[in-house]
Amino acid sequence: MSTRGTPALLTLRRVLLDLVFPPRCISCHHPGEWFCSECRSHVHHIAPPICRRCGQPLSDGTCAQCRRMPLHLDGLRAVAFFEDPLRQIIHRFKYESRPELGRSLACLLDEYLIENPLPVDVIVPVPLHPQRERARGFNQSLILARELASRKNLPLWYNVIERCRLTQPQVDLNLPARFENVRGAFQVVGDVQERRILLVDDVCTTGATLDACGLALKESGACSVWGLALARGR
Ligand SMILES: [Zn+2]
Ligand SMILES: [Zn+2]
Repeated sequence: MSTRGTPALLTLRRVLLDLVFPPRCISCHHPGEWFCSECRSHVHHIAPPICRRCGQPLSDGTCAQCRRMPLHLDGLRAVAFFEDPLRQIIHRFKYESRPELGRSLACLLDEYLIENPLPVDVIVPVPLHPQRERARGFNQSLILARELASRKNLPLWYNVIERCRLTQPQVDLNLPARFENVRGAFQVVGDVQERRILLVDDVCTTGATLDACGLALKESGACSVWGLALARGR
């Protein structure tokens, strides 16, 4: 397992925690949910028209960046821009070890796919390097992917791809350096032949990490690979 405890134990832990500390909205502190419907209505969703490859807002076709340097992914999509209140929730989820928030966040991924279906039949989370996962205690992408797979009734394949090299944090790098930094950082260790894969991550900026995973999966025979992130930078 890549998280601490089995899914059943994690669910039990969540139920107990909710009893002791009833949920309050992370953003507005209203009791009832971790991310209340009022705050959810303020999420800045990314809706079509978008670049058909990278998913950035665009009036028609493929953007200049994708024409110059096409992604290996069949397409990259994000639910919303990385702005408050969504940014606050993702930060708590990720950096303050709040895996229970993953359920509210996966709900956004689910709603996005209902509105914008993608041709996929397997869900794969972007892996963390084992050293980073030990430090954080969980892989945020796995939590999102697991919740999404259960909502969509699709198989979750969390061990078909590994991060075999510890990379520098992408945040410190410019665009070409981000693609260079993650090149060859992933290794496929399962059979993905002929599969149509949906890669799930929490936040993307250039899409370099998702793209490096996509390339590795395609080189191992995946038939198509789409990337889906909760949020992306502008
Ligand atoms: Zn709220
Ligand atoms: Zn594009």
